Amino acid sequence: MLTFEVANEVHELVNIYSSFDHEVGGILFGKKDGGVIKIQALSFKHGGKYRIDFTDKDCRIFSPPKGMVILGTWHTHPFQKEPFSSSIDTAQWKKWNNDYVHMVVGEKYSKIYEVKKSFPTSKKIEEVYFEKRI
Ligand SMILES: [Zn+2]
Repeated sequence: MLTFEVANEVHELVNIYSSFDHEVGGILFGKKDGGVIKIQALSFKHGGKYRIDFTDKDCRIFSPPKGMVILGTWHTHPFQKEPFSSSIDTAQWKKWNNDYVHMVVGEKYSKIYEVKKSFPTSKKIEEVYFEKRI
């Protein structure tokens, strides 16, 4: 089971971004320390009203600040008070590096998901962390 530490600055940014009326998102940056994932910074881009994609054209948002690594992705669901991953989300996440985690930000709180391999070749998405905001 993974443990998460989310920096205050990241909390503040997520609170601001969750009020946008369209999807926004980016990459999660920070450090991995054993089983602890420390989310310390975010990159940011605008998406559409109901979806956001991260492609090769977005290379700018994939550069981690000095001393940090890419931990995964994040995006908002402005149309959901309580966020849950869409089938588009889970299909995209299964294509990413398995070590990545993925945060979905709703109006009230965020969830972080992990992609788990399940026998023999399929992958399962699991909710691993739940963060309530003020
Ligand atoms: Zn989504």
